[in-house]
Amino acid sequence: MVFFRRTEEERPKVPQELAHLRAALQKAQLPENVHTAATKELERLEKTDPSMAEYSIGLNYLDYLIGLPWTRITEDNLDLKRAQRILESSHYGLNHVKERILEYLSVRTLCSIQTSQVLVVDDEEIARTNLEYILRKEGHQVDTAANGMEALEKVKAHEFDVVLTDLKMEKMDGIQLLESVKQIAPATEIIMVTGYATVATAVDAMRKGAAHYLSKPIKLDELRATVREIIDRKRHVQMTRGPILCFAGPPGTGKTSIGRAIAEALERRFIRISLAGLRDEAELRGHRRTYVGAMPGRIINEIRRLGTKNPVFMLDEIDKIGQDFRGDPASVLLEILDPQQNSNFLDFYVDLPFDLSNVMFITTANVVETLPPPLLDRLEVIYFPGYMESEKIRIAQNFLIPRQVREHALTHLNISFTEGAIAKIIRDYTREAGLRNLEREIATICRKLARIALETKPSAAPVEIDEALVERFLGPRKFAHEVAEAGNQVGVTTGLVWTEFGGEIISVEATQMRGNKQLILTGSLGNVMQESAQTALSYIRSHAQQFGLDPDFFADKDIHIHIPSGAIPKEGPSAGVTIALALLSLLTGRPARRDVALTGELTLSGRILPVSGIREKILAAQRAGARVVVFPQQNEVDLNDLADDLKEGLQIILADTLESLVDVVLV
Ligand code: ADP
Repeated sequence: MVFFRRTEEERPKVPQELAHLRAALQKAQLPENVHTAATKELERLEKTDPSMAEYSIGLNYLDYLIGLPWTRITEDNLDLKRAQRILESSHYGLNHVKERILEYLSVRTLCSIQTSQVLVVDDEEIARTNLEYILRKEGHQVDTAANGMEALEKVKAHEFDVVLTDLKMEKMDGIQLLESVKQIAPATEIIMVTGYATVATAVDAMRKGAAHYLSKPIKLDELRATVREIIDRKRHVQMTRGPILCFAGPPGTGKTSIGRAIAEALERRFIRISLAGLRDEAELRGHRRTYVGAMPGRIINEIRRLGTKNPVFMLDEIDKIGQDFRGDPASVLLEILDPQQNSNFLDFYVDLPFDLSNVMFITTANVVETLPPPLLDRLEVIYFPGYMESEKIRIAQNFLIPRQVREHALTHLNISFTEGAIAKIIRDYTREAGLRNLEREIATICRKLARIALETKPSAAPVEIDEALVERFLGPRKFAHEVAEAGNQVGVTTGLVWTEFGGEIISVEATQMRGNKQLILTGSLGNVMQESAQTALSYIRSHAQQFGLDPDFFADKDIHIHIPSGAIPKEGPSAGVTIALALLSLLTGRPARRDVALTGELTLSGRILPVSGIREKILAAQRAGARVVVFPQQNEVDLNDLADDLKEGLQIILADTLESLVDVVLV
């Protein structure tokens, strides 16, 4: 193979792009290791033929490297009152979330204003006094000790950030002091001061846990810088320590927008990426630079785009990482999220460790129960519950409508929505735990108003949107109050389940036909739900007489149970009671009440076990217009914890056996 090569005269000495990069490299304040690596790469490129693929790969890489915010950081605004104001003015309710955020800010503030405590240990008085004077001028609080014993007494009584000790002292030398201090106060860092002749001992000191050593005669700049650096590092660890926040809840409950508000409060940049469907570690951590199409991962890419290394970074939907993910998602995520691991984050493209420990990561998930335990273990989960209708109305009035009116440039029209109109949108046009569709429908109305405003003569009269206008703008209603309006039927019961979208109403249908003892289950039922159906049938068969049934009812029959909305996968044990009552209704011929919503796990002996997602289920029952809700007896405590207005208008029945429910549900 023959390569075309330019002759020496044809080739410019240093191509222009390299000259630019060299200038950029000199201007960028890169950490030493990055600067060295970049310079080496630049020198390599200067020797590479620009027509080679390697050249352009190198060029892109170098450009990328120089553009990363290695040291660029935005100053945090730690004004608590201001933060509180921002959170309050952007979000209704969510008090537990707001409190947690303010606590986080408080810790950071305290860490950053904490004074640094230094203990100087030296048996020469003049040295002690000098060091004390210099460090005090640097703003540290300084105490002194004339020997190792005195120093130990002080370390026991008081917490120091740094102990600066001479190595050679009578009775107890610096090394012995170091060992004892590390036992009494492991968090205290030690700087060893050594004479010329004892470099070997200094190395020994470092091995035994000293943070640094200074040789005599001490250079003042070095002393100041070393103490400052050690204390800064300690504060940084203190500030970034702690669990990773995970906002969990159904869609549209404010997880993203409160993340944005946190960034605004801290005056940091905000970025959000979704991990839904993520299939390869390389998407997050980049590809090695060995081939032409190699690219950095999304984490580093976003950081570069934002231009600071401390944004608020939201990793959305960590529960939706693709099933076919290659590798272990939990360990990849922890490497990125865990402050103890992420200060040396290695993107394969960048190929140099980048410090992510200043990033404030927030993760979100719809359900956390399915997360891998090692990951869940490191997360502090903050729940975002679904909203009640009354809360939605208030949020719409105070936040969603004013925002949509603003965004559609309608502020001059003096638009208002009646409470009835908002309630109508919620009931007839949305069916959700959160607010996404509500906001979307309000936006639709605003769009139509914008058009009308242009087409008609301007008028100063206020515009009031009432129920009739809602219907005019949004068309026929999209959802019916299915439960309240459905008639009672034989073999059909209403159940409550908890899904990633919040609580949901389901109906369970059962039918029978001639056959040979088959139980047919359809509607995308998961394994656990299929087992619930089998358990329900076995329980009824084994107690047939008690329910007034022919013990051989199944002998020449097939029974088919179906849970509609087949496209949505359904899983979990909490539909056991609902299935059993659909069967009993079918077999006894007694219609079941559709307005009774059921939830509970059924055992083979007919007992009802507790379930989760109580609040979400109550909200779903309210949305669907159920009148009676049946919960397992053991969920009584959870129900007592709920606010009264959540349960308003619902009759709540607690049950611990299936038998006790027969006359409640069957007409
Ligand atoms: P999520 O991230 O949980 O899916 P979003 O943050 O996108 O939800 O919220 C959907 C919409 O509802 C956003 O416009 C948001 O501002 C609004 N919203 C949600 N909760 C509240 C609340 N408590 N107060 C005001 N607005 C809210």
